Amino acid sequence: MADAPLNRQILLVSRPEGEASVSNFKLVETPLAPLAEGQVRVRNHYLSLDPYMRGRMDDAKSYAPPQPLNEVMIGGTVGVVSESRNPKFAVGDSVVGMLGWQEYGTSDGTMLNQVDASRVPLSAYLGALGMPGVTAWYGLNGIIKPKTGETVVVSAASGAVGSVVGQLAKAAGCRAVGIAGGAEKCRYVVETLGFDACVDYKAGNLRADLKAAVPDGIDGYFENVGGEILNAVLARMNAFGRVAVCGMISGYDGKPLPLDAPRLILTQRLLLQGFIVYEHLDIWPQALKDLGERVATKKLLFRESIAEGLDKAPEALLGMLRGKNFGKQLVKLV
Ligand code: NDP
Repeated sequence: MADAPLNRQILLVSRPEGEASVSNFKLVETPLAPLAEGQVRVRNHYLSLDPYMRGRMDDAKSYAPPQPLNEVMIGGTVGVVSESRNPKFAVGDSVVGMLGWQEYGTSDGTMLNQVDASRVPLSAYLGALGMPGVTAWYGLNGIIKPKTGETVVVSAASGAVGSVVGQLAKAAGCRAVGIAGGAEKCRYVVETLGFDACVDYKAGNLRADLKAAVPDGIDGYFENVGGEILNAVLARMNAFGRVAVCGMISGYDGKPLPLDAPRLILTQRLLLQGFIVYEHLDIWPQALKDLGERVATKKLLFRESIAEGLDKAPEALLGMLRGKNFGKQLVKLV
């Protein structure tokens, strides 16, 4: 009898102390078991690398359980069905799912959805047309609720979520201001994505440059970073400003993120609302429809950083957490 075909997988094998490292992961080869009735096998084409993965690597209390050790690293995937014993899926279907860091994923069909890869590239379903896009859409429309003429600021502005936030804010008639690391990312945010301004927080004049970029103050802030950037933005918020607290990536390695002036929440009557996009499944269809139309008509642009090959996933994740990515970070397998 022929040997079973092998699947290459990356496991989380240890938990980081402080900064995560590639040694926390291990590449293994495992034989593929035959499909059971109801199962479907997917050849993963792209893995999504996302900041939340750093949190799952820790054994800490959070909104989601930790990634178990010695199991395939979790994560969003897009790919093509290669075998099916599930009547809802046919060989050749393009699907988005959560099949993790491996070349082949096996699923009972739960959380696996067919997507149309004829109008937009398959990879977009992990970015602007997927979880990051919906995150941007919900935080902006569900929490900030922008009005024409208002100023909306977003941090990590050139990234998967931030780039969508600013473009949607601009489309809603707002002044859209990004905060990003480096002149090249800022140039892209303004010249390609059409934001009104972008502050390079690495240039050394964060507070002065932000003040100059928001002459009428800030009405809405989409928070991705935390720390000094949050403190600088809070100091410029207008009365009744809204802050959608989406992420605090500058603290994911355990760095404390003190709030300088919490009294501003009172004196400026601010709303600060944290959210987790998977707790708002009711808005996904509407958000994806809106985002899909904008992407297909090129009104919503996106950029990708692509690492080639499964073995590059750990290094690419760590790079993304340090800002080495420029746009949505993916790993291309096929
Ligand atoms: P990005 O594509 O924006 O990549 C991460 C970016 O974060 C980096 O490129 C870097 O940009 C920035 N960054 C990293 N470290 C720092 C730091 N110390 N200071 C400032 N900026 C830093 O990632 P995503 O778009 O996928 O995610 C953006 C945020 O959204 C994250 O905080 C993530 O956790 C959050 N998120 C939350 C969800 C929710 O449901 N609440 C769902 C999805 C994402 P730069 O070079 O500009 O510094």
